[in-house]
Amino acid sequence: MRIRKSRMLVFALCISVAALFLAVTAASAANPKIGILIYKYDDTYISTVRNALNKALEGKAEVTMQDGKGDQAAQNDQLDVLIERGMDGLIVNMVDAQAAAGVVSKIKDRGIPVVFFNREPDLNTLKTYDKAVFVGTNAADAGRMQGDIIKKLWDETPAYDLNKDGKFQYVMFKGEPDNPEAIARTEFSVKQAEENGVKMDQIGQTFVCNWDTALAQQAMESALAANEGKIELVVANNDGMAMGAIAALSNIGYNVEGGSKFIPVIGVDATDQAVDAIGKGIMSATVKQDGEAMGNAVSEIILNMIAGKAPLDGTSYKYDDSGIAVRIPYSPYSGK
Ligand code: CA
Repeated sequence: MRIRKSRMLVFALCISVAALFLAVTAASAANPKIGILIYKYDDTYISTVRNALNKALEGKAEVTMQDGKGDQAAQNDQLDVLIERGMDGLIVNMVDAQAAAGVVSKIKDRGIPVVFFNREPDLNTLKTYDKAVFVGTNAADAGRMQGDIIKKLWDETPAYDLNKDGKFQYVMFKGEPDNPEAIARTEFSVKQAEENGVKMDQIGQTFVCNWDTALAQQAMESALAANEGKIELVVANNDGMAMGAIAALSNIGYNVEGGSKFIPVIGVDATDQAVDAIGKGIMSATVKQDGEAMGNAVSEIILNMIAGKAPLDGTSYKYDDSGIAVRIPYSPYSGK
């Protein structure tokens, strides 16, 4: 009798635990808790992604967002807090993509679905966890798009060929020496222009200016001092450096609003300043990272994963060759 009674008790206990579990699952599915870690709020492009995330998740999840302020140690602490608070899903924009292994292992221990975005961790690290997905861009595409813009500029305005030698004499501004985005943009912009049939001729060395406007301005001032009248095109890995080059040009009367002397300048990012400069006619074009498309993709995917569905279920997204990453395309912007 006694044994039977305790069996009954265990059975009843199991039922109530199961019921409780179902209740918790149902509650979290209705309004899941999503923790979002951002590498830093003070970044123009990332701000557009944040806004898109907030908008896409409004009414669908309880969102907690944290500013890593460019400090990976701080972001690790924020992750610990979010995990302790029982998040149903996590969205992570790494401060330091090299630190992803530790982050993945912490999240994996709790079995929480996670979408990494923008700053790309080693995808082999992500592959160690079956509830991790990456959403990013394809670095080479930004360069290729610049190459297409170069072709268009060359074809549309023969006057850009100042020395009439049939070649586009250009200067190149690179972000950082070992940054994969910077390397790909530098390489593929020129490669694509050449594949499009434009003969490219670099003036001087590549200027490595750490994505920085002031450094780019100094480099452009030196380049102009040595080669004024010979530079026909400025190609920059980002709009920040493009703005520096434009500042140097306008100091000596080029690329001034309403002015007569103009050298085409192209960048990447479509920052507010660049869009404004393009509108004023003192910059040619940029390449836009679509932050809104990025935010929408990340939110659709995390909601699927939290609901226990396949990450891309019912979406229009496709994995790239890695089978774990989704790439949001860039788009050219010339204000037209
Ligand atoms: Ca030329």
